[in-house]
Amino acid sequence: MNLDQETRQLVKREKFYTAKILQNLCQIDREKLFSDFGFSSLYAYLIKGLSYSESEAHLRVSAVKLIRKESSVLQRIEEGSLSLTNAAQVNMTLNELSHEVEITKPMIAEAVALASNVSTRLAKEELRKTFAPSTSRKETLTLQGEILDKLDRVRKIYGKDCSNFELLEILLEEKLRSPTLPLRKSDHKVKNSRYIPVQVKHQVHHGQCSHCGTRRNLQFDHILEFSRGGSNSKDNIQVLCFNCNQRKQILTLSSLTSPSYCLLP
Ligand SMILES: [Zn+2]
Repeated sequence: MNLDQETRQLVKREKFYTAKILQNLCQIDREKLFSDFGFSSLYAYLIKGLSYSESEAHLRVSAVKLIRKESSVLQRIEEGSLSLTNAAQVNMTLNELSHEVEITKPMIAEAVALASNVSTRLAKEELRKTFAPSTSRKETLTLQGEILDKLDRVRKIYGKDCSNFELLEILLEEKLRSPTLPLRKSDHKVKNSRYIPVQVKHQVHHGQCSHCGTRRNLQFDHILEFSRGGSNSKDNIQVLCFNCNQRKQILTLSSLTSPSYCLLP
């Protein structure tokens, strides 16, 4: 076999392995298995667990998200008609568009087709022409005095590395998860309710996920589910991030674990 033939064969094998790895990553993402492996996200797993660079990890996470929307993408990547860069481009285009319209299966198929068998530059152009969202709204905030003091106090909970933007995002996400719960309300206990008293929340909240340690997307969790008789006392409440909480629910649903499963290291 000459060098050309050998190289072609190796490239073919490389694409096969890339697709195989992506297939595994899809399962790891779907079942939030990275939480079991000790990572807060698929991205963190790719970087810290699998030693990918940030850009390599970004491409793979994007490809996984796209494959989960449209499974035929995996085959295109394996046969070489869709590059990881173009897959990431498609995923980004669809994400931007999803703020404006509901993404349908035919739209995904069209975007994938536009980005297949073309250079990244051409894919970008075609995607922009076909799916360009209208310009997004921008707001500029100037924060002063009391508001900044409050923001700094919140920063103490989530860690000094949190930017103002991240803090605002965390606070908004938390509020949107329980939109009906006013921010300022006296603590009223309701019998037989899953309502967790404010003082219990304060006692168990240390600003990070008790499983993986991330400071993002935190939520309170009943260690023994409320529906199985778990109480609202501090011994039964823990703070988990969204992903670890999802992983716990998947484990509980698939009955891989006892009802009193506790997601603690
Ligand atoms: Zn976590």
